[in-house]
Amino acid sequence: MKQRSFIELLSREGRCRDRDPDLWFPEFDERTKEYGQQAAKAIAVCNMCPIKETCLAYGLEFEDYGVWGGTTPSQRREMRKHESTN
Ligand code: SF4
Repeated sequence: MKQRSFIELLSREGRCRDRDPDLWFPEFDERTKEYGQQAAKAIAVCNMCPIKETCLAYGLEFEDYGVWGGTTPSQRREMRKHESTN
């Protein structure tokens, strides 16, 4: 999916569309407890989102920062590594 069409989909159907976007982009180092606590709140919303799978695919392809499709940046890095070795 192209970046622009995904953002349009997110603005129509994403559970995050009416929330503060900063929740999905914690300003803390990802290894800290604070990052985990904020990301968990974002992920809880993602877990109820009807476009979570599409969002994850988008995040894997395009996003190095923030929570996308219920995953953190380090989780997506791990997923990409596994994808590239399979
Ligand atoms: S999965 Fe999460 S980040 Fe993606 S659109 Fe849904 S709520 Fe937003």
